[in-house]
Amino acid sequence: MSNVYDSIIIGASAGGISASIYLKRQGIEFSIIAKDIGGEMALSGIVENYPGFPETNGVELAKKFREHMEKYQIKPIIEEVLSLEIKKPNGFIIKTNKNTYEAKTIIIATGSSPKKLNIPGEDKFYHKGLSYCSVCDLPLFKNKIVAIIGGGNSANEGGIMGSRICQKVYIINKNPEMKGDKVLIEELKSKENVEIIYNALTQEIYGDQKVSGLKYLDKMTGEVKNLAVDGIFIHIGLKPNSEFVPDAWNIKNEYGEIIVNQLCQTSIPGVFAAGDVTNIPHKQIGVAVGQGIIASLEVVKYLNTIR
Ligand SMILES: Cc1cc2nc3c(=O)[nH]c(=O)nc-3n(C[C@H](O)[C@H](O)[C@H](O)COP(=O)(O)OP(=O)(O)OC[C@H]3O[C@@H](n4cnc5c(N)ncnc54)[C@H](O)[C@@H]3O)c2cc1C
Repeated sequence: MSNVYDSIIIGASAGGISASIYLKRQGIEFSIIAKDIGGEMALSGIVENYPGFPETNGVELAKKFREHMEKYQIKPIIEEVLSLEIKKPNGFIIKTNKNTYEAKTIIIATGSSPKKLNIPGEDKFYHKGLSYCSVCDLPLFKNKIVAIIGGGNSANEGGIMGSRICQKVYIINKNPEMKGDKVLIEELKSKENVEIIYNALTQEIYGDQKVSGLKYLDKMTGEVKNLAVDGIFIHIGLKPNSEFVPDAWNIKNEYGEIIVNQLCQTSIPGVFAAGDVTNIPHKQIGVAVGQGIIASLEVVKYLNTIR
C-alpha cells in the first residue's frame, strides 16, 4: 500500500489545521483528509472572542488558517472518511469515498453538524426556503419574513443577523426562555422586528415549490397554530461527526462525542481527537485549536514509543 503515514488528521478546520501545523514543524510524515477546509468555523458568522482577532468572522478566520497551513505546503486531501479499522500491531486503516490509507496514529477533528428536527417537510424543503446556516443563507431573505427555530446562541445570532436583513424574524423556541450569552439575548430582545414565540413546538413545514409556512403546537394552550413565513432556519444544536468511528471501539459517549482525556488521548493507543467532535463541553474555535495542538504533540510522543 502506498498511502502509508505516521499520522492522519481527519478534518481541516480549527482543530485539524492547528494539529497539521504542529506535525509539520515536528517533521512527522502525515496527511490531512477533510470533506472541506474550514468546516463549521467558516460558518461561524461574526467572531469576536478569538484572541488576537478582536473583529473578524468565520470566513476570514478560516482563510487565515488556510494561509497558515499553505505556508507549510500542507495540502489537505478532499475526501470523506467512511470507516476506520485497527491494523495490528500499531496502525489503522482509513477508508474514504475514494481511497484507502494507512497510518500509525489518527487525530479525529471532524467537528459537528446541525441537528435535524425530523418533522414532515424538513427534507422536502431543504434548500427551498429551509436552511441550517443563517450566515450562509439569511442574505437571500432580504425584506422577507423568516422563522428561526431554536433557543440558544445560534438562534440568538441568527435572529440578530436576520433583524438587519429581513422584514420580520420570528424565533420559535420550544422552551419558556432563550438560553446562551446574556449580551446576545439582550440584543435580540431589543430588536423591534424580532418576535420570540415561546413554548412552541414546531410540527410541520409546508409550502408548494418553496416554504410558505410552518405549524407549531402552542404548549400552553394545546392549540396547533400556523405561521406564514418565506424562510425557515433550524438552529437546534449540533451532533458530532463521528459516524465513521466504529461503535466497537467504545470511544464514543451517548451523544456520539469522542471521549478524550486532557491529553486528547482516547482509550485506544494511537487514536487522538480534538475540537467539537470530543466530549469537551466548550465548543469554541480557541478550544479546538488548543486541543489540536495537544493531540499533535501527543502523537509525536506516542510515535517515539512505538518506533
Ligand atoms: C453559528 C455558529 C457560530 C459560532 N460562533 C463562534 C464564535 O463566535 N467563536 C468561537 O470560538 N466559536 C464559534 N462557533 C463554534 C466553532 O465554529 C467551532 O467550535 C469550531 O469550528 C470547531 O472546530 P473543529 O475543528 O472542531 O470542527 P469544524 O469546524 O466543524 O470542522 C470539521 C472538519 O472536519 C471535516 N469532516 C467532518 N466529517 C468528515 C469526514 N467524515 N471525513 C472527512 N472530513 C470530515 C469537515 O470537512 C471540516 O474540515 C460557532 C459555531 C456556529 C455553528
